[in-house]
Amino acid sequence: ATFVDFQQVYLSYDDSSAFAVEDITLSARAGEFIAIVGPSGCGKSTFMKLATGLKRATRGSVTIQGQQVSGPLKFVGMAFQAPTLLPWRSTLDNVLLPLEIVEPYRSEFKRRRGEYVEHAMRLLKAVGLDAHAKHYPWQLSGGMQQRASICRALIHQPRMLLLDEPFGALDAFTREELWCVLRDLHAEQRFNVILVTHDLREAAYLADTIYVMSKRPGRIVARRENPLPGPRE
Ligand code: ADP
Ligand code: ADP
Repeated sequence: ATFVDFQQVYLSYDDSSAFAVEDITLSARAGEFIAIVGPSGCGKSTFMKLATGLKRATRGSVTIQGQQVSGPLKFVGMAFQAPTLLPWRSTLDNVLLPLEIVEPYRSEFKRRRGEYVEHAMRLLKAVGLDAHAKHYPWQLSGGMQQRASICRALIHQPRMLLLDEPFGALDAFTREELWCVLRDLHAEQRFNVILVTHDLREAAYLADTIYVMSKRPGRIVARRENPLPGPRE
């Protein structure tokens, strides 16, 4: 089944100017991991904003599970290049944060906190951070903070995970370790992933399908199914 579907999507930030992205047609199956690669300024972040409903297409249609996207979506998790943990919260409390904000979890948070903590601890264990649950961000290395950010993005069991250069700031060793972590989590939980990256090797390691965007105007110029036998299916 199709999960995300873009049909001839154009977006301009103000009416007069050129399009930031144009003629984007793309669809991803449920559970598919797609990567968007391209130079900076080609429209990758714009694509993300369209996929999450933060921006509406100037022209064309964006649907998720057959529904027109018309406002910010709740069932997405996001992680960015820099970890964005709140410094006054422990690792565990950072990971729990979406559950305190997003309905339907929010109204249940006090009553079900025990269950939520268990779930958070399972995720932290999967990324090797369970022993650091009580530590604060300043007590963690950059790679550890990024792992915690990924746990936070997944805590409310989003159907779609959006990753904007999440490994870009890490050293090569940590980066490849996190690739494995993400691959395992995806293989197990089968959420949809849209990964934006400059790194073709990263895209090739992780994604089922790779889309290449060209600079000005932002267009998809190539689509490649990953020829490597993935860990999934
Ligand atoms: P990338 O994420 O690939 O670096 P962006 O999606 O940020 O690219 O940008 C695509 C194009 O849209 C660029 O030409 C950029 O200058 C333009 N753009 C991005 N955000 C805005 C904005 N808020 N207002 C006007 N133009 C923008
Ligand atoms: P990463 O590869 O996640 O960036 P490092 O290579 O910096 O982590 O650290 C290796 C190990 O050392 C970590 O898995 C962690 O157990 C421990 N460690 C690193 N920095 C800290 C810290 N500031 N506080 C506690 N433990 C740490």
